[in-house]
Amino acid sequence: IAVSKTVGVDETVAAIHAGYRHFAENRPQELVRKLTGLAEHPELPEVRFDMIGNLQTNKINAVLGSAELIHSVGSLHLAQAISSRAGPQRVLIEVNVSGEESKGGFSPDEIRAAAGELAELEGICVQGLMTMAPRGNKDVARRTFAGLRELRDELEAAHPDLNLPELSCGMSEDFEPALEEGSTLVRLGRVVFSPEFAVK
Ligand SMILES: *Cc1c(COP(=O)(O)O)cnc(C)c1O
Repeated sequence: IAVSKTVGVDETVAAIHAGYRHFAENRPQELVRKLTGLAEHPELPEVRFDMIGNLQTNKINAVLGSAELIHSVGSLHLAQAISSRAGPQRVLIEVNVSGEESKGGFSPDEIRAAAGELAELEGICVQGLMTMAPRGNKDVARRTFAGLRELRDELEAAHPDLNLPELSCGMSEDFEPALEEGSTLVRLGRVVFSPEFAVK
């Protein structure tokens, strides 16, 4: 997924010309801006946008129907709010696997406790899990991604009605270990859009 949050419509169009078809934004307002801008280019192939950022309940309406998949459902409150308005919206559950205090999302124990309730919400279709690894250390990142996969396997085993094929993990600095640990959706910003960024 090309994360277009730091670039404008023109750069997004350039990425489409380069072959990208799947994009993500982290703010509802920016998602609307991109969709409005791209609507002026009907000659372009169809592309998809996902929502990957922290979402406030009062901003949900701008995203529903526009974002194909919301990666960042990090609380039962938000899941319920989406569910009450949507019919049905595909979502991922954000889990704070690494336990860093600065990170949002369910803790592993919280998602173990809430999974049954999430599976039963009618207006959302939970399709997998999302996480962000601590920055700067690929071994720690790998353990975080492996932890996400193991948690997914555990939740699926405990809840036969939950099907969680998608694992959204890996960014510009750590997409290689993410892919090796089973990521199905890597979210790439700088590696796609920033000429200064070099993969180490
Ligand atoms: C910005 C962002 C990314 C992309 O980050 P890069 O390190 O530039 O690849 C991925 N996921 C989320 C949630 C982001 O906010």
